[in-house]
Amino acid sequence: MSSRVTSPLLLIPGPTPVPQRVLEALARPTEGHSSAATAAALQRLQLGVAQAVGAPASGTGAPLVLALAGSGTLALECGIVNLVAPGEKLLVVSHGLFGDRYAAVGRALGAEVEVVECPWGEQVAPELVEAALKASGARVMAATHVDTATGVMSPFREYARVARELGVLMVLDAVATVGGMPVDMSESGIDVVVTASQKALGMPPGLAILVISPAALEARRRLPSCRSYFLDWLNWEATMGDPMGRYFATLPTNMIIAGAEAVDIAIEEGWDDRFRRHRRMARSVRRGLRAIGLSPLAEEAVLGATVTATGVPAGVAPTDLRLEVAKDGVTIAGGIGQWAPLGVRFGHMGAADLPDLLQGLAALEAALIRLGVTVARGAGVAELVTAWGEDVAG
Ligand code: PMP
Repeated sequence: MSSRVTSPLLLIPGPTPVPQRVLEALARPTEGHSSAATAAALQRLQLGVAQAVGAPASGTGAPLVLALAGSGTLALECGIVNLVAPGEKLLVVSHGLFGDRYAAVGRALGAEVEVVECPWGEQVAPELVEAALKASGARVMAATHVDTATGVMSPFREYARVARELGVLMVLDAVATVGGMPVDMSESGIDVVVTASQKALGMPPGLAILVISPAALEARRRLPSCRSYFLDWLNWEATMGDPMGRYFATLPTNMIIAGAEAVDIAIEEGWDDRFRRHRRMARSVRRGLRAIGLSPLAEEAVLGATVTATGVPAGVAPTDLRLEVAKDGVTIAGGIGQWAPLGVRFGHMGAADLPDLLQGLAALEAALIRLGVTVARGAGVAELVTAWGEDVAG
């Protein structure tokens, strides 16, 4: 057992470390869902999330931002059930486990799902997406930004450009990235961004968050009906704009108040600086990992900035490595899906920063040594610090 006096250090791709200020906000006495405090916090949260995804905070192009009690999967479902009627087509671009999950969500909702996919560790070429959209005639498509199973990011801006040209609505699963990587929603022409609280936004798990463009909301109005009552955007629209005046269903008030605190922290840091910190973390962690013989399972050029799936040295079982690292108070994640036997995953997002990464790398080194692997002592930490000191472009 670790002697850490606080909780384990979460270096998994969510939940991520939650700043003390956010935890204290979470612990404040519960507010009513129609209170002035809840309304003010909801507005701060909504404006912050709109900034994080690059949507206008006000004016005619301003999105509807929903913060519902639930996880990222609920957000995925909410993003589709409002746009695709049963029997209608949905094109899903999948480059990993969560793309496949989006397809499963579509099928569960009765959509006629078509999937364009690629081998894990790669990206689906935009030309394939274009051809599939043209052939299928789908009105709605869904893609993943970073697939957390592999850490690979998609060229979603190119998908969005094609979707826009063909008049197709695009939903982006940015569960693993909002708050840590830009998605430039308006500029890219994405209609719905879905995310969750427990990843790069640095909040505890519990909020499913959606940013819905005016065009997507109009598309919902044209849908004859929504096959979910709780997830219907039209049921939430008034409440999300005016929780004091309009009740639809009870809001997760402690989480909304804590979420507002987390976006305040991000705004104090500055979104661009926060995105830069994520790039710096990704690059430094990966250099540190390589220095101790842990190679990312995908090419650097296709990797996002929030999570790294890495192989393990020959003779080491990924589960043993994870359990050994946990003895020093650090939680890393196992592989999932078809990459489960290949290695482990290291999350570097949200409030995580240099001291956390150093601790993670040091714990990994110590664990490998205990497992009998020959590692140049201090090599990972030294490389991490060297990389951290070098400028990160952009
Ligand atoms: N999409 C992506 C890209 C994710 O990383 C995750 C969570 N790992 C989900 C969807 C599902 O989110 P949740 O586990 O919060 O339901």
